[in-house]
Amino acid sequence: MKTIFVDSKGVEYVPDKNNWKPADGLFQVKHGAIRFPLKMISVRPATMWRYQEALPVSEKISSSLSLGEGMTPLVPFDDQEPNLWVKMDYLMPTGSFKDRGAAVLIAKAKELGVTSVIADSSGNAATSIAAYSARAGIECHVFVPDSVSEKKLAQVKAHGAIVHKIAGTREETAVAAQSAVEETDAFYASHVYNPFFHEGTKTFSFEIWEQLQFKVPDQIILPVGNGTLLLGAYIGFTNLLNAGMIDKLPKLVAVQAENCAPLAHAFTSSSPVTSVENEGTAAEGIAIADPARGEQIIQAVHASKGTIITAPEEDIDEAKAELAKKGFYVEPTTAATYAAYKKYKIKHVTESERVVIALCGSGLKK
Ligand SMILES: *Cc1c(COP(=O)(O)O)cnc(C)c1O
Repeated sequence: MKTIFVDSKGVEYVPDKNNWKPADGLFQVKHGAIRFPLKMISVRPATMWRYQEALPVSEKISSSLSLGEGMTPLVPFDDQEPNLWVKMDYLMPTGSFKDRGAAVLIAKAKELGVTSVIADSSGNAATSIAAYSARAGIECHVFVPDSVSEKKLAQVKAHGAIVHKIAGTREETAVAAQSAVEETDAFYASHVYNPFFHEGTKTFSFEIWEQLQFKVPDQIILPVGNGTLLLGAYIGFTNLLNAGMIDKLPKLVAVQAENCAPLAHAFTSSSPVTSVENEGTAAEGIAIADPARGEQIIQAVHASKGTIITAPEEDIDEAKAELAKKGFYVEPTTAATYAAYKKYKIKHVTESERVVIALCGSGLKK
């Protein structure tokens, strides 16, 4: 699949290794007609690359880079709620769904002849980018706020990435990374700005569709901070809809942390997304005070007839324990998704509706 980027005015760009931000807004991918040859897909290896016609990477590069990511289990939650399913993306190679996006983004970097990448993240995105860069033989620089614990960085360093600690906030760290990108020839391997990341996370949708015998669920409960999973999920289902493979989008029900919920506020008050103060939350993976793709996220949720809800802070620990008692060992950010679902389902989920909850991050990291 050949890819064209567009900016917010619809101006087209050929993806280029040094241009990470257009004059207007942020890059998005312009999708043409995509094929889903079901007979061929069903006999390919059980990884996200089985949907290769829908992915922007040549098979030669993806097969040398792949760690077998994708096709994570979709299992029933328990006997009491037969229509509730969980998508176990915490079983990815580095322990989170970010591997979907990083695999495609680093594969594209490789294709573009990149030899050095810069990323900024203090969490799972950094780990994924570091792992796939290592596999691709690309030098990887990760910018983090200096408040990040050494433990969190251990996995990033183990993959050989060079860590740059920045005195300041998460936002200031991003600015430092962007200046380094401007000053060097390095590729900005950003899960927020580079839409190739969403081209990877969209396989989350293809897999759910295939695992439910080529049907979509009624509702999908998933976390949202910068929207890398949510936008990917939306793009994936939209690709299927446009290809005539499904006839409706599932409702995307996005979860924010009560104490850092700029998107939930904007959605409920029908107002523009404005940055908030992060009041502190156990769900740090979704605590994004000023999401760069805020309006795009709100539009995607509306288009799916979904909603944005919040996880009560005091319920997160208990939700984590409850999931563990069912056998699912996840990180607090992921427990927040379940905590929010429990409150939401009382009024908004009927017994006959099929619901999928995304379990995104492994508890083994924390
Ligand atoms: C990155 C991440 C999120 C949040 O994803 P966004 O792209 O910020 O919306 C949620 N859970 C886990 C486990 C993550 O790694």
